[in-house]
Amino acid sequence: MTSSSSQTQIQSQKPPRKPQPPPISTTTPTTSKLNWSLNDFEIGKPIGRGKFGRVYLAREVQSKYIVALKVIFKEQIGKHGLHRQLRREMEIQSSLHHPNILRLHGWFHDDLRVVLILEYAHGGELYRQLRKSGHFSEPQAAYYIASLTRALAYCHEKHVIHRDIKPENLLLDHEGHLKIADFGWSVQLKSESKRMTMCGTLDYLAPEMVDNQAHDYAVDNWTLGVLCYELLYGVPPFEAESQRDTFRRIMKVDLSFPSTPTVSAEAKNLISRLLVKDSTKRLSLKEILEHPWVVKNAENTVACTN
Ligand code: ATP
Ligand code: MG
Repeated sequence: MTSSSSQTQIQSQKPPRKPQPPPISTTTPTTSKLNWSLNDFEIGKPIGRGKFGRVYLAREVQSKYIVALKVIFKEQIGKHGLHRQLRREMEIQSSLHHPNILRLHGWFHDDLRVVLILEYAHGGELYRQLRKSGHFSEPQAAYYIASLTRALAYCHEKHVIHRDIKPENLLLDHEGHLKIADFGWSVQLKSESKRMTMCGTLDYLAPEMVDNQAHDYAVDNWTLGVLCYELLYGVPPFEAESQRDTFRRIMKVDLSFPSTPTVSAEAKNLISRLLVKDSTKRLSLKEILEHPWVVKNAENTVACTN
């Protein structure tokens, strides 16, 4: 369990007329502490629901820092044999320090539950913003794709493949910066090795995963293509009535671009060069960041808080 100091605080802007709540910060509690317990936190409203537990807004009693607590019941972990997966999620996420990766400050457990102390992402899910606006503008989509590509490049350098990139697992902070969350399906590879497990979310699965083939870092590059399409069109590219049909469309790379909304040829070029069946022929993360559409659109775009 780790904990770091520093970073920004969101202070109230106007001079207080009546007693103000203490300043809140979405960053790490300042005290380095190894033995956290539920008594260290005031628990606030539930802010999310995962497969095996809930996520609550919380404030550390001593420093008043705002965090998100992901509470997972041990019974559920045991029942589904997820000990190793959870441990992996915790170890991987707490070792990653990047502005576009949600920080895991620490964790603790009692008889009933395991609790993850997470950086609070005030802007919520990117998915919710996408559903609200239908689809994003090209500068906005490019901004998210560039942020995500940088975060994935950092993960890949550390030999971590995320494998479950989708709008639901991307959160926004109070300034609209993108944060990758949910490392439940990520995996740390020994160099050059390939994985054989089928995982991830159907619409975002790369062909080699649908086909149960060994896969490597390039699955994240594929999902960047799927995400870029969904951010621009509002729907994933291989959507179908049934799971079988989605799989079939993925395997054929049955990609088409609707006439509305209007999307530039450069954006379509980027998507087409990521959604390539042969994983070795997909654009690399470096090439994505150098792609004219990303360079043109993402550079001057600031985070947007809707
Ligand atoms: P699933 O596997 O269904 O994605 P999960 O068990 O992995 O669920 P998370 O995705 O980590 O759970 O969290 C569930 C939801 O809680 C998120 O989709 C998000 O809406 C909210 N949430 C989680 N962590 C945070 C956070 N740090 N700040 C704000 N909201 C959060
Ligand atoms: Mg999730």
